Amino acid sequence: MEKICVAVRVRPSSSENGSSLWKVEDNRISLHKSLDTPISTASYAFDHVFDERSTNACVYELLTKDIIHAAVEGFNGTAFAYGQTSSGKTFTMTGSETDPGIIRRSIRDVFERIQTIKDREFLIRVSYMEIYNEEINDLLAVENQRLQIHEHLERGVFVAGLKEEIVSDAEQILKLLDSGEVNRHFGETNMNVHSSRSHTIFRMVIESRGKENSSTDAIRVSVLNLVDLAGSERIAKTGAGGVRLTEGKYINKSLMILGNVINKLSESSKLRPHIPYRDSKLTRILQPALGGNAKTCIICTIAPEEHHIEESKGTLQFASRAKRITNCAQVNEILTDAALLKRQKSEIEELRMKLEGSHAEVLEQEILKLSNQMLKYELECERLKTQLEEERRKQKEQEQCIKEQQLKIENLNNLVTNSDFKTNKSEDFVSLRRKPDGRCNVSDSSDVLGTPFFKSAERSFVVARSNYSGLSDFSPMVDSLGDVADEDTWTKLNKGFVADLDQLQFTPAYKRQTTPLTAATAEHLRENHKEVEDLKSQIELLTSEKNSLQVKFHEQVVQNNKLMEQMSEIKQETLPMKEIPKRLFESVGNCKDVYKDVIVTMKTLMGEKESPTGKLIFGATKITTSLLSTLESQFSMIIDGQKSGSNVEHPLSDQWETLLGSLKNTASSLVSDAQAQNKILNSHYKGQEAAAMEEKLKSELSNIKERYNELEKKLSMDKQLLQASRESHEKLEKEVQFLKEERDSLDAAVSQSTQRLRVIASDKENALKDLNVEMKRRKEMEEEIKQISFAFSSRQRSLMSFHNEIKSKMQKLTTQNPKSK
Ligand code: ADP
Ligand code: MG
Repeated sequence: MEKICVAVRVRPSSSENGSSLWKVEDNRISLHKSLDTPISTASYAFDHVFDERSTNACVYELLTKDIIHAAVEGFNGTAFAYGQTSSGKTFTMTGSETDPGIIRRSIRDVFERIQTIKDREFLIRVSYMEIYNEEINDLLAVENQRLQIHEHLERGVFVAGLKEEIVSDAEQILKLLDSGEVNRHFGETNMNVHSSRSHTIFRMVIESRGKENSSTDAIRVSVLNLVDLAGSERIAKTGAGGVRLTEGKYINKSLMILGNVINKLSESSKLRPHIPYRDSKLTRILQPALGGNAKTCIICTIAPEEHHIEESKGTLQFASRAKRITNCAQVNEILTDAALLKRQKSEIEELRMKLEGSHAEVLEQEILKLSNQMLKYELECERLKTQLEEERRKQKEQEQCIKEQQLKIENLNNLVTNSDFKTNKSEDFVSLRRKPDGRCNVSDSSDVLGTPFFKSAERSFVVARSNYSGLSDFSPMVDSLGDVADEDTWTKLNKGFVADLDQLQFTPAYKRQTTPLTAATAEHLRENHKEVEDLKSQIELLTSEKNSLQVKFHEQVVQNNKLMEQMSEIKQETLPMKEIPKRLFESVGNCKDVYKDVIVTMKTLMGEKESPTGKLIFGATKITTSLLSTLESQFSMIIDGQKSGSNVEHPLSDQWETLLGSLKNTASSLVSDAQAQNKILNSHYKGQEAAAMEEKLKSELSNIKERYNELEKKLSMDKQLLQASRESHEKLEKEVQFLKEERDSLDAAVSQSTQRLRVIASDKENALKDLNVEMKRRKEMEEEIKQISFAFSSRQRSLMSFHNEIKSKMQKLTTQNPKSK
């Protein structure tokens, strides 16, 4: 039993010339009047009193260091700062760059200390939380809000779901603390306002065990809490309203309950009434630190200014009461089975030695001790029972999980059946939609892609510990139990409760529950196995479905390739057609050449250019040249259009008609002109010369006429050919377009089915992964259950034999020494 260590710290005055009202002498603080006469009622003595000039280094050295070192040895430790806002709590706990506070100094000291302990290995986990408006929020993981407090026989009070970070050096923790501070800013514009209205708790869990070849196998677990409380001022003084008022009420409530707890604890321990730890989250978390199994120090900070005098007095009264609290700190050890057996053996040996000395008093003491132990074992048996129950509960959760997986697979099936391949209407889809028992599944198709919710196992205490390779042979105890021990049992445990001998007789005989429990578990396992088999068959079906889809996909690819080939063939066919306009163009060129030859011949025949026949012929020449040029330009346009790939409309087709018309007109006018000319010639030259001339001209004219007719025929044929080629070209173009569309739609269908295949494959993979994880977990669970039942039965056996041994020895003793009774 030891008293809580209480210190007071006065912060420097905020005004320059403010002489403090509080006088500090050694470990006493007193209120002075202006004439330096102390007010008799206002003088308090504490373990330490730190004045304005004190540093955090000094506070740490004198107040906290021992607690930190004890925590490394396996004792729970708590240090907290209490006082009104701006009295220096945060300065003391967190400190400044130049003078780090208790938290930072403790972190560094813990790691320095660990370095010096060579025969033990350590595992350190840290968490950082705040209590704001009676809600616990995780400062290391913003998503963990409104956490709940649970109580466990072995672990004591703990915050469920709080992130515990395993750390290996001081720097890592300091970084975590900084990130925690950032999280504290969340939603608050004024950090100071927030901080003075929330309690923050920084927690280190220090686990250690002896390295190999060391004498003890026990694991030591200690919890170190470093707390910066909210400001303790009254709301009336702050003049708050609205949100601030609500906050104030919560702060006042939790601090008032803290005061109540401290008041009750400070009363004489014999009269000690019920302690209202459960009335606030703060007192529940600090329960072991207040009158429980922990070494605790409180630093009460006061502001020296005159207008804070009432608050300061309040703080000092709180500190005086806290000074009276006694705690019972003991090293927290968890024994492994091997260590427990070793210890029991040595104790029996010791007992035997003492029995041989046969002093009744000593014996009585020993018996008392043993009965105390028996009580402890009883409690442990109870705990094991609850653990087994917890196991069953977990099994149920797993069953639920498997059901959800089944649902997921059914959803996948639906996904497959809902895919709209026209070709995929085969019967095998129907078979998929059926459950193994033949019933049809009618799950909602809108939920097809929804991923079922998998409940992941809580990151339990054991899981956290298993990260620490050195502790793998730790006794198989599940720590994440939600069982809540009542407060009195806990207090009893903390206080080292001693039972009397009579109680030993009244202890009910142990009921061996392992067999039925194991049978029930086995039944669960069998059911689970069946479900796993079902899942497997579902996955097989899915695989076959996937394969058939793949085959279809390949078929489609082949079809697509065929279509592509056809398209290229058609393109090949269209190529010669494209040549037609070119050929026409060339033939027009030839015509032009022939025509030029004719003109040249005519020119040589014509003596006089200025004669009326000459004029006529030159007029006709011009028209024909323009006609041929038009033809040429027409064909070159068609060729250009083909090259650019555009569907050329033929704007010159009207021109064709007009040109042909004008050609005809010119030809007929030429003929009539020639005839008129003939008459004139007949009248003018009636000689032989004239007749010969006329004959020559006539034959030339008919020659030209013939050539012209030939040209016209050729032209109209070419025109027809062009028309036909244009039509067939258009037809082919349409066909190509159609094929293109068909190919595009096929492409889209193929990519859609590929997408689906991918989704199905990934879903299948996920389901398989989940299944594997589930199987693994189940195996671990089975193993754990086996170990627990084995440990349980072996412990029971040893207990019974131990019990029998004692009984027989007692009987022997009573028969040997009937007087000593
Ligand atoms: P609380 O956390 O109690 O509301 P703070 O720790 O924030 O108060 O202190 C209020 C102000 O006083 C801060 O600016 C802090 O730096 C300063 N302060 C408090 N205690 C001391 C001290 N011992 N020495 C120097 N400055 C201090
Ligand atoms: Mg503060």
